[in-house]
Amino acid sequence: MSLGWSRRAPVDTLVGTETAIEFSIPLAELPRVSHELTNKDGEAKGKVRFSRQQGHAVADLDVSAQPEVVCQRCMQPMRWPVKVKSRVALVSDYDAADRVPDEFEVFLVEADSVSVRDLVDEEVMLALPNVPRHAEDSECARRKVQLPGQPDEPEAAHEAQVQKPFAQLGELLKRK
Ligand SMILES: [Zn+2]
Repeated sequence: MSLGWSRRAPVDTLVGTETAIEFSIPLAELPRVSHELTNKDGEAKGKVRFSRQQGHAVADLDVSAQPEVVCQRCMQPMRWPVKVKSRVALVSDYDAADRVPDEFEVFLVEADSVSVRDLVDEEVMLALPNVPRHAEDSECARRKVQLPGQPDEPEAAHEAQVQKPFAQLGELLKRK
């Protein structure tokens, strides 16, 4: 069975035929991940194999990617290596999710269908840091970051502009 990463297919079919897919998905094509990234360059590569394990529909997923995130200490872009190997149980509701053994991750499928894109999006999403930072032994960590004290220029300028007509009017009145 040939199947692209973008196409949704019934979980039963994927599992029943033990479909295996190698993929290379542009990060820009991962809906949730691309939403998190300023620079959407790069791709998520890997493979997935569907099967039934212990009575559960399972996707064995191998994903690697190098998304660019922004270090929250120095605000410079940095590559965040993602390398995940996971067993994901595909369930259709929360009751089924409760019955999944601990060694599996759980993915809630909609309408009993799933695409490789959905699975990879979720995995890379989970691997992204909440607060990305360069490593503690990096130059970024050693350097004290000085955030420039930003005076509220636009606001002040705006105020000056608002005042101006009155000031001019004042001048005009004086001249008359
Ligand atoms: Zn940094």
